Amino acid sequence: MSGIWPGDTQCVAMLSFDVDGVSSWLRRNPDFARMPSLMSMAEYGPSVAAPRILDILDAHDIKATFFVPGYVAETHQDLVKDIHGRGHELAHHGYMHEAPASMDAREEDEVLRKGIDILQGLTGQRPLGYRSPSWELSEASLDLLSRYEFAYDSSLMGDDAPYMVDSKKGPLVEIPVSWVLDDAPHFVHAPSAQRTSPMKSPDEVLDIWLAEFEGLYRYGRAFPLTMHPQYIGRPGRLLMLEKLISRISAFPNVCFMRMIDVAEMWAVTKP
Ligand SMILES: [Zn+2]
Repeated sequence: MSGIWPGDTQCVAMLSFDVDGVSSWLRRNPDFARMPSLMSMAEYGPSVAAPRILDILDAHDIKATFFVPGYVAETHQDLVKDIHGRGHELAHHGYMHEAPASMDAREEDEVLRKGIDILQGLTGQRPLGYRSPSWELSEASLDLLSRYEFAYDSSLMGDDAPYMVDSKKGPLVEIPVSWVLDDAPHFVHAPSAQRTSPMKSPDEVLDIWLAEFEGLYRYGRAFPLTMHPQYIGRPGRLLMLEKLISRISAFPNVCFMRMIDVAEMWAVTKP
């Protein structure tokens, strides 16, 4: 064991997809429901892009983690079952993409239970991973997650490898995120919603993500990538994702894992 990972592993890559669909827009402003163009852009994610992403993952024999809000799961039940059937992880991402920091503790508890019930109803398995919508936990979140026996959270940014965070029921694994390893800041362009990122080219984002990977690899850390089917799922960007997978796979001693598998390993080896 050379570093923080078992055996010869130098870096663990975790591909994750936040299948927000229309939920994040509707949570931001329910009036967006009356804007069919914006809604259709969001709907492209689960309807058109996600099946292509699943095929890419199969082609590269990679298992990934899909964070799916309860509302999106209810309205795309076949997709959720397909994700599960292909061996990927289904994880909790609110009901209507509610940031915990925007709710009181009672609402947060309700949303957590609702999302658990919906994903469990569709897959037969309780979600064990949670990622807060908008990456804004509340002060109550970690205690609630451990009360509902989640194995990990993926919302904080305090390290570049998994770490333990405290809760009233004991330590919980945190699989940290970062804005640089998120497709949204690079690609979101929705003028009607006042979201106008500069819309970088796929090659520019490939360079940024590979530079991060090389640094994380050098230090023997984790490479958790957050993507949204409605953004990464444009065909030119999907080609970039395939290039990224190929380039990362060419490094020795790299493995791709689902977040739940990393969290369960971490809980045993690093409490
Ligand atoms: Zn989201």
